Amino acid sequence: MLLLVDLDGVVYLGAAPVPGVAAVLAARAAAGDDVVYVTNNSMWYRADYVTRLSSMGAPVSPDRIVSSARATALYLAEQSPVPRCALVVGGAGLVHELRDVGIEVMPSAEAAERWTANGRDAVAATRGVDTVVVGLDMEFTYARLAVAAEAVRAGARFVVSNRDPIYPMEHGFMPGAGAVVAAVVTASGVEPVSLGKPGPLLLEVAAHAIGRPATEAVMIGDSLITDIPAAIAVGARSVLMLTGISTAAQLAALPAADRPTEVAANAEELAAALDRLARE
Ligand SMILES: [Mg+2]
Repeated sequence: MLLLVDLDGVVYLGAAPVPGVAAVLAARAAAGDDVVYVTNNSMWYRADYVTRLSSMGAPVSPDRIVSSARATALYLAEQSPVPRCALVVGGAGLVHELRDVGIEVMPSAEAAERWTANGRDAVAATRGVDTVVVGLDMEFTYARLAVAAEAVRAGARFVVSNRDPIYPMEHGFMPGAGAVVAAVVTASGVEPVSLGKPGPLLLEVAAHAIGRPATEAVMIGDSLITDIPAAIAVGARSVLMLTGISTAAQLAALPAADRPTEVAANAEELAAALDRLARE
C-alpha cells in the first residue's frame, strides 16, 4: 500500500510521540508499504523532519517527506513555463525547498526593504518576479504584504502552501498561513492555487513523487477538516486517527459521504485498520 501519513496529531503531538504509531509504520514499511509523510506545515525543510522522525523510530528518508513547502516546489517545477524568480512570503523551509528545485528566490524581506527605501515603488522592488509564493511567515509585515500583493496584481503566478486559519502550538493557537494568504488575497483581488490539504494537490504531488497515483493511497490523518476531505478529493481511502484534533462526536455528526474509510483510537487500532485495508 501507499500510506500518506499526516504528522502532527498522528505520529507526534508537539514534542511527544503518539505511542506506538512509529512502530506500526515501521512494520508496514518492512512489509513493503510505501510510507510518505504529508503535512500542511510549510516552515521546515525536509531534513529537519528526518532527525525527529527517525529518533521516534518512524521509517523515513528525505524523499519521503512532502510538506506543503516541498509540494509547492515540486508543483512549480512542473509548470510551464517554470518560474524564474519567486517572491516568497514564508519561512526558511519554504525558501530552501524552492531553491532545491532550481527556482530563484527573492525573499519578501529584501523586496520589502527596497520598497521602503525607494518611495514605496512595488514595481521596482519586485522587478524580475514572475511568481509569488506565500506560506506561514511569522515576521509578516505591511511592507511584505505590499510587495506580494502588488506583484500578484501585476500578473505574477500566485501559489500558496496552505490556507490553514490557525497553527497549533503547545500552549494554544497562532495565526496560520491562511491568515497571511487572506491578506494577500484581499489586497490583490486574486485567488491563489493552494497546495495544502483539504485540496487534492498535496496528496497528488506526494504520490507522484514516488511514481504512484494518489487513488492508490491510504491517507492517515487526525483532521476531519483537512486530511479526510483531501483523501476524498483524490479518491483515496483514509484512516481517521482520534489521537489529535478531531473527535468521535465530530465524526458522528458527518454525513456518510464525508467519513473516513476506517477510524482508529490508537496505534493498535491503526494496525488492525491497515490490515483490513491491505486485504481489500
Ligand atoms: Mg494533523
